[in-house]
Amino acid sequence: MFELLKLTLREKKWVTLALLSTFGVALFTAIMMNLVQPVIDEMFKANPAAVSVSAAPASGAAAAETKVRVLDLLWKLLRIDRAGIKKALPLVLIIVIFGKGLFTFFSSFFMKAVGNKVVKKMRDDLYAHILSQSSGFFDRATTGDLMSRLTNDVDRIQQAVGTAMSDIFEESFVLIGLLLTLFLNDWKMALVAFVIAPLAVIPMAAFSRQLKKQGRKSQLKMSDIYNLIHETVTGNRIVKAFTMEGFELRKFLKASWRYYRINLKLAWVSSLSSPFMEFIGGVVGAFILVVGADRIAKNQISPGDFGVFVSTIFYMFTPIKRLSRANNVVQQAVACYDRVQEVLNMPQEIEDRPDAYPMPAIQGRVRFDRVGFAYLADRPVLFDVDFETKPRETVALVGLSGAGKTTIVNLIGRFYEATSGTITIDGNNIRDVTVASLRSQIGLVTQEIVLFNDTVRANIAYGLDDVPLERIVESAKAAECHEFITELPQGYDTVIGERGGILSVGQRQRLALARALLKDPPILILDEATSALDSESERLIQQALTRIMKNRTTFVVAHRMSTIRNADTILVIDGGRIVESGSHDELVRKPRGIYRKLHDLQFPEEEENGR
Ligand code: ADP
Ligand code: MG
Repeated sequence: MFELLKLTLREKKWVTLALLSTFGVALFTAIMMNLVQPVIDEMFKANPAAVSVSAAPASGAAAAETKVRVLDLLWKLLRIDRAGIKKALPLVLIIVIFGKGLFTFFSSFFMKAVGNKVVKKMRDDLYAHILSQSSGFFDRATTGDLMSRLTNDVDRIQQAVGTAMSDIFEESFVLIGLLLTLFLNDWKMALVAFVIAPLAVIPMAAFSRQLKKQGRKSQLKMSDIYNLIHETVTGNRIVKAFTMEGFELRKFLKASWRYYRINLKLAWVSSLSSPFMEFIGGVVGAFILVVGADRIAKNQISPGDFGVFVSTIFYMFTPIKRLSRANNVVQQAVACYDRVQEVLNMPQEIEDRPDAYPMPAIQGRVRFDRVGFAYLADRPVLFDVDFETKPRETVALVGLSGAGKTTIVNLIGRFYEATSGTITIDGNNIRDVTVASLRSQIGLVTQEIVLFNDTVRANIAYGLDDVPLERIVESAKAAECHEFITELPQGYDTVIGERGGILSVGQRQRLALARALLKDPPILILDEATSALDSESERLIQQALTRIMKNRTTFVVAHRMSTIRNADTILVIDGGRIVESGSHDELVRKPRGIYRKLHDLQFPEEEENGR
């Protein structure tokens, strides 16, 4: 609640304007209520019947007549004498209502502007923060949950700040104006009314608490829904292939049902709160009628004064109702705000040290010194990994799936932080240099290709500014992409759809290779980068690959012997350890070595042919 208020108040200029307008609304509302008195007292004076109705003992008559009223100030200001009041009333009424409307417009507009501003900043911050999170964060986070926080939660906060906050400001001022009207008009009766009012406070607090609790639950259920949608949309082919539509639909319906249930509960609580408040108001009103009748009879107040009092009390319902409604919205938004803050307060796991320096141009001497790593505490996946590469060397990592090859290469670009040991490149500990300068010198092609919904050209030149088309074409040719790209409808300017939808997997991998080539990094990591290529395509780019690998330190995770045997060093990984290392010839000669076994298993005929 206070955080939301603080956020709102940060937009000083607009909030000040809104507050000023709100003050205007309150002022005009108060004047409007006070107008009831002359309407009743002056208008009815012409009608003798009405006067006789309120005829009172002469002794008290003077009291009501000589009462000093707020409106007297207005009449004096406008130089209207008592006789002129009746004539002036219609015009004054129109002006007052017009003024109230005008200020209502300004206060509403300015507060909505504040809401939009606050929320825009929050959404931008949130997105920037999410973007800068480490790989570990994305392993744990679900897309749906993040999306739901970025859209749904932020929207609710916008509602709260834009609409509810404006209501809270405006209606509180109006309420104060009305209260002042009440007390100035007849403070004794006002006191009586307010003995009963606190009754309303206790249930209101209970309502708020419920709303906050249910609001939080509701947002959680919404995240579930986003998650399910995301999963089935991105994985629609698998869902279809396994004919799991029914299963997924049932899962969705269940989540949807839970969301619906919580929202019904929310609706129940929030619908109850306003009639409840109204009822309390009614009780107060009934009380006033009894006391008021008595006071008029004793001529302590005029019928007009009583009119002001009663209409003010009834008019107070609106601000009270709006306040309680605004309170509902704000309470739900507080839940959303907490969810947004949860993400914003998440510490960056991988950050530049304060004294980090930019990585000098990399020669390519990568050294792992007793490196250990665990994705989850207590479940280490790498143990004492020790190796050193020479500049421009090709290192192949070989091992069964799950052995830890991807994990090892991910540590080089600091996508994850080694749990123990040190990693140095040309003698620079990678923790001492800035992350950006390190990663800008590393090219990465993974098995899972990431392409963006943009043109082929932009995808190849991703992360690079102002690359001439010739250079893009050059790398595309080297990666054997040029041919299929020119066959696309708009060639290099074809938009390739979300995640490269219109391309085959092999084509996507070649695009990713072209991207890495264009970057021309001193360290290149190919993590099963050619696994999706058929033998023909792989043969085609093999030459290009060999050429690419020559000028830089390359780590290649591959299963094909043709790629592996040409490597200068082969690291055989098993269970998170390096179990063998050496050149192809050395390793193949070990009769009981794992490498030999892998090799014989996969390529028995190659071995026999002695190729
Ligand atoms: P490889 O690339 O050799 O197939 P990985 O390096 O991907 O193997 O995985 C090594 C081990 O780490 C596996 O046991 C795997 O279950 C685990 N692992 C991989 N990625 C994660 C992750 N993001 N979170 C938790 N555990 C992981
Ligand atoms: Mg892997």
